[in-house]
Amino acid sequence: MNEIKQALLGKARELGFGRGGVSLPILDNSNARALEEWLSKGYHAEMAWMAREPQRRVDATLSLPSCKRVVVFTLPYNQVVSETPPQVGMLRVSRYLLGRDYHRLAEKQGKKLVRWLRETYGGTHRFYVDAGPLLERAFAVQAGLGFLGKHGNLITPDGSFVFLASLLTSLELPLDTPVEKSCGSCRLCLDACPTGALKAPRVVDSRRCISYLTIEHKGSVDEALRPKLAPWLAGCDRCQEVCPYNRKVNEQTIHPDFATRRVESWFSWETLFSMNETQFKEAFQGNGLSRPGLNGLRRNAAYCIGSDKMRHRDEKRVVKLKEMIHNEEDAVVREALSWAVKRILNGT
Ligand code: SF4
Repeated sequence: MNEIKQALLGKARELGFGRGGVSLPILDNSNARALEEWLSKGYHAEMAWMAREPQRRVDATLSLPSCKRVVVFTLPYNQVVSETPPQVGMLRVSRYLLGRDYHRLAEKQGKKLVRWLRETYGGTHRFYVDAGPLLERAFAVQAGLGFLGKHGNLITPDGSFVFLASLLTSLELPLDTPVEKSCGSCRLCLDACPTGALKAPRVVDSRRCISYLTIEHKGSVDEALRPKLAPWLAGCDRCQEVCPYNRKVNEQTIHPDFATRRVESWFSWETLFSMNETQFKEAFQGNGLSRPGLNGLRRNAAYCIGSDKMRHRDEKRVVKLKEMIHNEEDAVVREALSWAVKRILNGT
């Protein structure tokens, strides 16, 4: 079985995955309790799918009855990006959105991996990327890939800017052991979160998380949170950027589809408002920015324009924004622009 494990990890690397580790198919009880408590507080926001069948998230045999092991793979995506804008007033895109949509990328490679494994060694397998019914980070910890930082992300030897993908398999591969590491007394991420979304170590309130609000959340954002979103147009890397474990960037570990950027990390809001839907689709097809869509990004941009950091009074800008409100067809974007203008004019 060890030979099969090594061959599987080697094949996964060939397909562009990073590290791999092997876990039992069931997580220990503390994970089920933590998930239950997190859900009971409503920290999953509008992601109702997370509350569905929580038992499946901690027990992979409920998804694949013959499952004997969960093999978790990383896909590192960190790269050197400027944390200061090239021009004042530009808006920022999170690192994980700079390349191709990783769901599509990992799913395609995962299918190839499953086909190869079945044809070479037999067995029954299933592959999940992110949206699968599994607590992937907890399985990754049990598979010895790293530990959970206080920001709730998995910290691996390559840092925490990694995507995760999981293979459920009926093959009884040799297990890996969890690593003995922790954040110690550090609390940089807890203090750095602009919206206070990190309620406690490893407890994220998605309702306040900028990543969730700018990508997943539909409709208007709570007025109390809007002023804190800038400069994030889509996603947020703040808690991971302050983390000492992310100081070293090894760009050689990045998948080529991420190393070749499709999107720049800083955007001008004027560009967004000058695009039509067809131009947007052409420019961002296959990228995660298509998830919030053009109107979602415009809404976010409007909140940034009216934020504490960006709302300097400039008559020309106000005239332009008022013109945009007049021409805007989307009600949520129009309200967001009106809110920004009001804040610029009133200073509130
Ligand atoms: Fe842990 Fe500090 Fe990194 Fe937060 S910033 S995950 S507390 S090491």
